[in-house]
Amino acid sequence: MPRIYIETHGCQMNEADSQYIVDRAVDAGYTLAVRPEDANVVVLNTCTVRDKAERRAYGRMHHFKRLKERDPAVRLVVAGCLAEQDRDRMQRVAPHVDAVFGTSELAALGDRLDAWQPEYDDLAALDDETLASDRTLFEPLGGTADCIPGAFSHLRAFVTVQRGCSYYCTFCIVPHVRGRFDHRPLHDILADVRERVVAGAREVMLVGQTVNAWRDAARNADFGDLCRAAASVEGLERLTFISPHPKDFTEKMIAEFAAIEPLNPRIHLPLQSGSDVVLRRMNRKYTRAGFEERVRAIRHFLPNWAITTDIIVGFPGESEEDFEQTLDIVRDGVFANAFTFMYSPRRGTPAARWAAVDKNIVAARFRRLVQLQNDIIQAYHARKIGSVTRCLVVGTSKKDPMKLTAKALDNVTVVGPKPPDYDEERYAREPWLDVEIETAHAWGCTGSIVRRAERFADCGIAVPTPAIDLALAMRA
Ligand code: SF4
Repeated sequence: MPRIYIETHGCQMNEADSQYIVDRAVDAGYTLAVRPEDANVVVLNTCTVRDKAERRAYGRMHHFKRLKERDPAVRLVVAGCLAEQDRDRMQRVAPHVDAVFGTSELAALGDRLDAWQPEYDDLAALDDETLASDRTLFEPLGGTADCIPGAFSHLRAFVTVQRGCSYYCTFCIVPHVRGRFDHRPLHDILADVRERVVAGAREVMLVGQTVNAWRDAARNADFGDLCRAAASVEGLERLTFISPHPKDFTEKMIAEFAAIEPLNPRIHLPLQSGSDVVLRRMNRKYTRAGFEERVRAIRHFLPNWAITTDIIVGFPGESEEDFEQTLDIVRDGVFANAFTFMYSPRRGTPAARWAAVDKNIVAARFRRLVQLQNDIIQAYHARKIGSVTRCLVVGTSKKDPMKLTAKALDNVTVVGPKPPDYDEERYAREPWLDVEIETAHAWGCTGSIVRRAERFADCGIAVPTPAIDLALAMRA
């Protein structure tokens, strides 16, 4: 059986595309390799939203060249946004790449995997231990930057509801590489949600580049209707979505969310800038007043939801006064978290031709924004101290193998010591953790795991206290 390794960079759209590639590969008879060295086919699913992502993708292509030097039969495939944008250049600078598939050619990539499969039929018997188990094959990928499936990765699944974007923000490469809106029919999306739930997903994330612009014209359904329908899929415990556009949130839609119980209480509302002048140059299609109106509606109908955002610093033409207007909104403490970026020009976009703001000025503004926002994030996290928060396990902490990482419903990262009864399989079956929050940081919270539960609605069973805590308690 041939083995395939898939490495995913970038956003949840790419994670969802990688799930599709895995499904097609499994259907064609491939097994999933957890290391590129063990694979016959290596797929690099790339991102080009920022210059750093692009450089990283070329770095990985260069790295994978060594696999081909060791075994020329290995096939290297590049997919995703960079593949769409840089096809010609890639074939020039990375001639060892065997095939390039853009974001609109995933079906063709699946067909190619089908076509290659018989060539591997006569492979020597493989060492079973180096192969992923059958169960692993059916686990959707997700949540990890390197896309290596783990015991918990099937708990969160991505379902693509729409491809492309028709809004043409002047800084964004997406419409140029992924094309205009292409909304999937309601029926197909619901079939995917059901399939993911049957495969073990506890939380489904609906993903689209401008997810709340989704429409099914044949059924006259909008994104609110889609959320209601997805939330009613039997067995689904939690539902969430990324990434919406402020313009497409109507008051009616926000009000409807309040009645959809499985929706996670977090709404991403990308601000990008607080200045109307900059928003116009960005072609964002809303004003600061319009943005603040959405915030008021969310506060009114969804008072306990976290609002998170994206902010770009140093967009061409951004003056000190423009930047101060962004800081004004942030200072109001609206955002429970913010993904902040220094503007990075993307080839082929209008803004890439405009005069850049001085790099030192951009860096200084960025530092001011991050410092302000970090204080606000930490204050948001500090409000959780003393509470018991239900979280979905993610896996062993990358920094400390003795700790578990989980995500609260508002997407806050929570870390706590592994309980003495910790066992990967058991915690994959009972993945909901109640964590008593003890300390707050800018990156998330730490605490003690006090209960675990099989279903979100279960009250859960107490877990033993780690020995170290007992020792501390006895000393106190
Ligand atoms: S809304 Fe703007 S930033 Fe978002 S994908 Fe579309 S063009 Fe890009």
